[in-house]
Amino acid sequence: MEIGLYLMSDRQRISEADRRFIIGRSGGRCNKCRIELFVQNEFGEKARLGDDAHIVASSDYGPRGNEEIGQQQRRSADNLILLCKTCHSEIDQQPNKFTEEVLLRMRDAHYRWVEERLGSTKVTKLRFHYLSYINIPRADMYASVQSIALPNFNLNGAETIRQLGINAGRLMAQYTSVLNVEELYSNVLTDETSIAEFAEGDYWFVNEVLFRTKRIAGYDNLPDAWRDDESVIYRDFGDWRLICLIDPRWITTTTTLVEFQSGSYKLAGLLHINRIEPEKGRVIASPLFLGSPDKGASR
Ligand SMILES: [Zn+2]
Repeated sequence: MEIGLYLMSDRQRISEADRRFIIGRSGGRCNKCRIELFVQNEFGEKARLGDDAHIVASSDYGPRGNEEIGQQQRRSADNLILLCKTCHSEIDQQPNKFTEEVLLRMRDAHYRWVEERLGSTKVTKLRFHYLSYINIPRADMYASVQSIALPNFNLNGAETIRQLGINAGRLMAQYTSVLNVEELYSNVLTDETSIAEFAEGDYWFVNEVLFRTKRIAGYDNLPDAWRDDESVIYRDFGDWRLICLIDPRWITTTTTLVEFQSGSYKLAGLLHINRIEPEKGRVIASPLFLGSPDKGASR
C-alpha cells in the first residue's frame, strides 16, 4: 500500500520492504525528535515530512562513509533510520557528534519507546464477525509494528473502499480472517477504564461497545464530511467521553453508512489514541478497525 511520496535521501535505491519496516518500527515518527512524519490536512492531502536516512552513508565520501561495510548492507533496513528533515540535516552535518554508534543507540531507544506505547496487554484474537470500517493506511502501519501480515491490497486508484466494488467484499473477508487468528498487542477498554490510563499513541481495543453517531455524512460530501473533527462516533464512560473520528472513505459498505447515520451502533474496534483532553473529559481516537463483534468469541 502506498503511504505517500517517498523522498530519497540519496541516489541509492532502498527496497520497499525495508522502507515499510523502518516506518513501522518507528511508529511513523522521527527517531530523534519523535515528531509525526505522516500527516494529512483537512482537504485529505497527505504529506511525508521525513527521510529514510543512512546511518553509514551509501557513498564512502558521505557522512560516516568510511566504515567497512558493503554496498548491499548499506541499503538494508539495518543501516536506515527514519528522521525528519531537520534532524536529518543536523545529523549528516555533524558526523563527529552523531557517529554510527550514537545513531544505532538512538534508533534502538526509539524502537523501544514505540513498543512501550503499543500497550502491554496481549489480546488473544480480536474476533470480528465482519468489519464495517477499515482505515487502511493506519491499519498498515500498525501491522508492520506488530509484524503481522495484513492483506497487501492494491486500491488501484480507488479513493474509498466502496469504489473497489466487488473487491471490497474480498478485502473485508481477508482482513477479518487475519484479525481473527493473530494475537495483537493492545490495551483493552472496559467500563472501569479511567481517562488517566490513556497515553497519546496508545492502541486500545473496544469490544461490544454501544456508540452514538454524530454527523456521519455520505461518500458524496468528501472530504467535507470529516472536516473540523465533526464526523464522529462517541461513547460516554462515566466522567469522560471517548470520541472516534470517522473518515467516511473507509466505511466499507453503503449499508454500514446508513447504520452509522442512524444514531447508535454496537461495535468492536481497535483504536489509536490521538489526543487526551482531561480538562474537557475527552479522549480523541482514530479507529483502525470497527466491526461487529464475533458472538462466538470467548471474550
Ligand atoms: Zn526530528
